Amino acid sequence: MSDSFLKQLECGHCGATASIDRLIGTCPECGGPLLARYDLDQARGDRIPEPGRGLWRWAGLLPVLPEGRFELGAGGTPLLPSSIGEWLGIGPTWIKDEAANPTASFKARGMAVAIGRAKALGATSLVAPSAGNAACAAAAYAAASGLPLTVFMPKDVPESFQVEARAYAARVELVDGLIDECGKRAQAMAERDGSFNLATFREPGRVEGKKTMGFEIAEQMGWRLPEVIIYPTGGGTGIVALWKAFDELEALGLIGSERPRLVMVQAETCAPLVRAFEAGEAKAEPWQDGSTVADGMRVPKSFGDRLVLDALRKSQGRAVTVSDAQMIEYARIMAARSGLFPCPEGAACLAAQVQLAEEGWIGSGERVVLFNTGTALKYLHLWPNATHPG
Ligand SMILES: *Cc1c(COP(=O)(O)O)cnc(C)c1O
Ligand SMILES: [Zn+2]
Repeated sequence: MSDSFLKQLECGHCGATASIDRLIGTCPECGGPLLARYDLDQARGDRIPEPGRGLWRWAGLLPVLPEGRFELGAGGTPLLPSSIGEWLGIGPTWIKDEAANPTASFKARGMAVAIGRAKALGATSLVAPSAGNAACAAAAYAAASGLPLTVFMPKDVPESFQVEARAYAARVELVDGLIDECGKRAQAMAERDGSFNLATFREPGRVEGKKTMGFEIAEQMGWRLPEVIIYPTGGGTGIVALWKAFDELEALGLIGSERPRLVMVQAETCAPLVRAFEAGEAKAEPWQDGSTVADGMRVPKSFGDRLVLDALRKSQGRAVTVSDAQMIEYARIMAARSGLFPCPEGAACLAAQVQLAEEGWIGSGERVVLFNTGTALKYLHLWPNATHPG
């Protein structure tokens, strides 16, 4: 497998650079989020992607040394043509089905890269805050890499996430509060005992792992990007990652300068990034008492807010909210019409698509990609007749 063309780490806020052979998380100058930068001229002459399947085909553009490339089958998920668009009269629609990842969510991509990088650079223990799926993905890759992991999750997180994370031998700590409170606990532990903190945007690997979703969509669509991509947003790692993916593909000469318009979807009861986008702000204020049934979108404050809002504006995108009731309703429609069993976050994308099509913001001929970011099997409590009779 090829070497990585990683050249340096660069702060997304102040532009300071940092060397790649030390395990650091955030900018040494200002504490901002670090982004991986590659020697793209060199990479251009190389074979990217490599043949085969999965996320490590893109190893040249990932910040992970070969000894950190643990294989659990992340990436290479299907891009499914769907008849729901036609059925709703809203044009050609594909679903990128991220439930096909290890631990059944796209969090596996980010954790494969973050944990692979950490292990190869000498980490000896890990810590992560999580609203649900990240804990399972981190725990699986911690198990694969042999590193001990502690996860902090809100105490009301569905049992499915706790059970699975514990199955992979993670230490699960339940916290009285939301993901932001869990983030503080994780940070404190990292400072106390040197565990490497895997929180989103507090280390550069998770954005890089999620970037492979953008690479795959481009490849799967014959290097002709769709007009619109709709993404269910918590902290917004995926928004930053998709935008970065397309810039790198252009530098490699694989696509041109055309870009999709990105749509960020949040729950109407926890929408700090949507509120900031609509208000024209560069940063997002924390959302008070946020709640939603979509655990992945229950994020009241994003550490990467500036990068997310910036990417969305550059794409000429939109930010919309949907209600929990709509997510539940559209999950049923999506399941019955497509054969996928989508998480509420995935259903939120369809609800947003319908809203934007009705407004006329999405034209009938425009090609749209929705993300189903995880499986409904971890959210069975949201479905009718879900309880066992006895
Ligand atoms: C984490 C998560 C999201 C949000 O992803 P971000 O890139 O962090 O905004 C969406 N859906 C599911 C199922 C998730 O677990
Ligand atoms: Zn900085």
